[in-house]
Amino acid sequence: MKVLMVSSEVFPLAKTGGLADVVGALSRTLVRVGNEVALAMPAYRTIFKNGFQLEETGIPVEVSIASRRVSGMILRTWLGENLPVYLIRADPYFLRDGLYGNSQGDYPDNAERFTFFSKAALELARKTAPWNVIHCHDWQTALIPVLKKIRIHSYPEIQKSKVLLTIHNLAYQGNFPASAWSLLNLDMQYFTPRYLEFYRNINFLKGGILFSDAFTTVSKKYAIEIKTTEYGCGLDGVIRDRERDLHGILNGLDYKEWNPETDPHIKKNYGDQDLDGKKSCKKELQEIYNLPPEPSVPLIGMVSRLVDQKGLDILLEAMGDLLRLDLQFVVLGTGEERYEKLLAGLCHSHPLRLGVKIGFDNTLAHKIEAGADLFLMPSKYEPCGLNQIYSLKYGTIPIVRSTGGLDDTIEDHNPLTGTGNGFKFNTHSGHALLEAVNRATTLYSNTEAWHQLMANAMACDFSWEKSAIEYFALYLQLLKTPSHPLP
Ligand code: ADP
Repeated sequence: MKVLMVSSEVFPLAKTGGLADVVGALSRTLVRVGNEVALAMPAYRTIFKNGFQLEETGIPVEVSIASRRVSGMILRTWLGENLPVYLIRADPYFLRDGLYGNSQGDYPDNAERFTFFSKAALELARKTAPWNVIHCHDWQTALIPVLKKIRIHSYPEIQKSKVLLTIHNLAYQGNFPASAWSLLNLDMQYFTPRYLEFYRNINFLKGGILFSDAFTTVSKKYAIEIKTTEYGCGLDGVIRDRERDLHGILNGLDYKEWNPETDPHIKKNYGDQDLDGKKSCKKELQEIYNLPPEPSVPLIGMVSRLVDQKGLDILLEAMGDLLRLDLQFVVLGTGEERYEKLLAGLCHSHPLRLGVKIGFDNTLAHKIEAGADLFLMPSKYEPCGLNQIYSLKYGTIPIVRSTGGLDDTIEDHNPLTGTGNGFKFNTHSGHALLEAVNRATTLYSNTEAWHQLMANAMACDFSWEKSAIEYFALYLQLLKTPSHPLP
């Protein structure tokens, strides 16, 4: 199987969130089980700064953007021997500090930047063909299926390739004003509600859903949820129309990066047979956050974007009561300023119970996974969620709201049978969150039951092999079925 994976971020080259982890790990796993995969992404400044070995390929790309011809060059680096990454270099677009924006917000020319990226990726696909599947990710690449299908004669070399789109988070759709339409160089008939128009704007993701041969999202539960008005972010009707081509495939975990037995970031390695190191990790975490070094007080961790999606609203609703319980709580995250300020203020007034660090810090994220006893994810919605899967491996018991991938990966603890791997609550409210935390901290005081729960969690296997097999099966199915016709 020859797969060209196109994404706006890939770990370890450039990352702002889970998308980068998923694309990197899925590609590596597909290669490991015998497929031929190449990645394509923009050549951001961070890639030049971080000393990756870059080769010139000599492949030029030139595309139309409105009435201009815009050119770029293709560089190449390698993630291991058999996994090339094509970097689309166009410095005016990508040689910037942020991937999508800076402290003032999103870059105002993102429509142009990612229209260029998608067109250039199609040129690259054409020049490096044949490909069985072009696998696109999120709105930044969602124009690829649109352009390939509408302008089929411009891309003869990849006419037979199937295009798959994976949606990692439906809330991010690439919505741009109508004035950006000329950048696409598509006929006005496609700027109608039947196609890419969405309440007078252009919606890249809507186009991707309509024009891809099939589309996936990152858990089975989320694939069901996004067909409802509650979770559909305005696109539920479009998704329902194409539901036969929608598949939910759960993300896996990169156990090379996230494994307490080998993790170089944590104070002392440990595993399910020897949990002693976890005590040292907890002590170090308490020191980092200036919390009293109490070994037997339950310590809850949270690593998250500080936004509504992640349930910050209900967390703050419950915080007053939470901080009256006999527990400690550490938070790492960045996001909306109001949440950053509220958390910092609470940390100031409750220094013995709550530690807050505002920032993006991969090493500290690992230390929290290892040092905490519990991990909180009260998300309003969660397409897959990665941190709860990391937590299981670290014996750090997740407390989650039962939505999306959180619901698919966490089974509520049953006190009668001792089964389950975490604690779940359903209602999106501070009260329900508090009730779940209470159940968790009560069980924590029963050492024997707690160790059983940790053992259950650490025994879970969410390795990428399982997910990669599902993607492979879907690629095969796509190759066997005729191309999805023009909608
Ligand atoms: P999302 O992609 O919606 O933010 P996921 O759970 O799918 O959520 O993935 C988040 C990824 O980003 C995880 O690898 C998590 O550890 C990491 N992460 C999020 N915030 C931070 C932070 N402030 N510092 C370090 N890593 C973070």
